[in-house]
Order: sequence, then C-alpha cells, then structure tokens
Amino acid sequence: MIVVMKIGSPEAEIDRISEELKEWGLTPEKIVGKHKVVMGLVGDTASLDPLQLQEISPWIERVLRVEKPYKRASLEFRNGEPSEVIVSTPDGSVTFGINHPVVTIAGPCSVENEAMIIETAKRVKAAGASFLRGGAYKPRTSPYSFQGHGESALGLLAAAREASGLGIITEVMDTADVDKVAEVADILQVGARNMQNFPLLKKVGAQDKPVFLKRGMSATIDEWLMAAEYVLAAGNSNVILCERGVRTFERKYARNTLDLAVLPVLRSLTHLPIAIDPSHGTGKAEYVPSMAKAAIAAGADSLMIEVHPNPAKALSDGPQSLTPERFDGLMRELKVIGKAVGRWSVERVAAV
Ligand code: PEP
Ligand code: MN
Repeated sequence: MIVVMKIGSPEAEIDRISEELKEWGLTPEKIVGKHKVVMGLVGDTASLDPLQLQEISPWIERVLRVEKPYKRASLEFRNGEPSEVIVSTPDGSVTFGINHPVVTIAGPCSVENEAMIIETAKRVKAAGASFLRGGAYKPRTSPYSFQGHGESALGLLAAAREASGLGIITEVMDTADVDKVAEVADILQVGARNMQNFPLLKKVGAQDKPVFLKRGMSATIDEWLMAAEYVLAAGNSNVILCERGVRTFERKYARNTLDLAVLPVLRSLTHLPIAIDPSHGTGKAEYVPSMAKAAIAAGADSLMIEVHPNPAKALSDGPQSLTPERFDGLMRELKVIGKAVGRWSVERVAAV
C-alpha cells in the first residue's frame, strides 16, 4: 500500500503518521520524490481499508493498494517517479536513470591479466565508457572451462580502477565472496544464472553497493522483478535491471534472443533503471552494434558491452567481444542516437 502526502506536508506530520503506522504493525518507507512525499507500506495490509487509513491525517492526499506481487520494485511504490542509482567512481559520480545520459559499461568477459585489463580500461575510457566490467568469478557451463582468477583478479580490477578512474562492476556468485567483492567493486553484478539465488540476493541486499541484476535466461519479467524485490526488501534500494537475452527456440544464429521489448514493458511496471547487454544478448560481435543502437533508441539507461584487446585469444566470450577500435567506432555511432533521444552527455564523451 502507498500513502501519497499532499504537497507541502509538514515533516513533523509525516513523522507522526509514520509512527502511527508502525503501531499498526506496518513498516513505512519514506520516499521523497521531486514534488511529493510518498510512504510505502510493507506488511500485512490485506485487511486494511484505504479509506480508514486516509482519515489519520488531513495531509494525506490518497492511499493506494499496490496490486503487484512486487511492492518496492513497482512504479506505484514511488508514485510513478523513476528512481536514480547514483554511483561514485574515482572520476566522480555517475547516475543511472531515465533523466540522465546513457551510462556505458565496457570491458572483457574475464579479467585475464594486469596488462590486458589496464589496457582495456584505458581504451574504453578514451572511447567514453564510465565503468569497466570484468569477471573475477566466472559462471561457466563446463567445470573444465576457465573459471576466472578469483581474488587475484579483484586486485587487478582495483589497479585498473586506479589507473583509469573508471568505476568497476564485477560479478559475485557466492555469498561468501560478497564482502571482498564489495571492497573493490563500485557495483556488484548478479549474473543471469544467479538471478534466483535467494541467499545471494539477500546478502547483496544487506550491503551498500548498488546491484546490477541480470535477467535469468528463462525468467519472466515478474520473476525478475521479484528477484529485485529481494534486494530492495533486504534494504538496498540501488538496483539496476539488465536484460541480457533470453532462451527461445532460436539457438542457431544468436546465442540468446535479446528482448528489447522489456524497455517499454519495464517502464510501465517499475521505477528501476534498465540496462541492456547486447553482447550476451546476441553472442556475436558483429550483431552487437545494431542491438546497442536499438537499445539506446528504445530508451535504455545503460549499456553493458564486452570489449577485449584480442578477442580471438579471449579466455571467455571472445566471439561476442568487440575490439577496442570497434568499440570506439560504436561509441561514435551511439552518440548520434543518444543525442537524438536526449540521452548523451557532451562532456563525458568530449573525446569522441
Ligand atoms: C557476464 O557478464 O560475463 C555474464 C556471465 O553474464 P550473464 O550472467 O548475463 O550470462
Ligand atoms: Mn561474458
């Protein structure tokens, strides 16, 4: 349930209502929007009558029931106002959200060695990226495939952060690793295969770093939003959703089917920022640029793109990785579309 306060409601009155609601056994969550304050109510609201609630203060504009199974992730919970995820990086803060420029995340699938991660960081930064991605812990289908360098790769990401000024995003697969990954990463990635790893969702929800939640390869939109709800319910309000392709009957030409329709669909359901990953979404470098462009045109808040200095030699996901040159060229193309939809920062890509 949500309680929408009238414009100009006194702070003391909001606090008083909040206390009263706590006495009713509810957990009020105050959300300060651009114009209005909204209180999201979590708890057993089924038996409550919205009209009865409305009567507790003349400053209450209206009380609405959130019908969706996800509450905190729903658009209604913020009275229709999109949320922003603000991340501090060595170069300054970067905001993911509909009223901000598209945030580009780029880098290799896996962190392979110091030279390659630092070179990639510098190249993607020069092309206009704001975050470096790179896996230290890799979820591989085969136990015989490269599993990632683990903790030592975290050290290399820290060095690349220092050398480039970029923020770092990297995947955490195990609850036991959350704290050490969060020491290095500016954003924690929960991968497609772990989208419904509920202990992991609770753990990343109980720490402060923003969470980049990839869609499970067979997850419905409701399941994905319920996964986000786990993180939000555990106390972390900074969640970015990332579409990375789903599994369909088509397996021959593309690794996955990139579901760009999630952009308008999610906009109607949730306030959370939305990223698109055309690399895992297609599995082929030659298909990545067109889907990246389409994603920006369709309103994505962020793009995640795999870039490797030598894709042919990559230890994972080489076929879908762009070279730094191709990434630089793509960023120039993206700038045209980003500017057309009012989502490109002139300052950030001054070099492009
Ligand atoms: C990745 O980002 O390298 C990755 C493994 O992604 P996903 O979880 O989407 O497969
Ligand atoms: Mn990958």
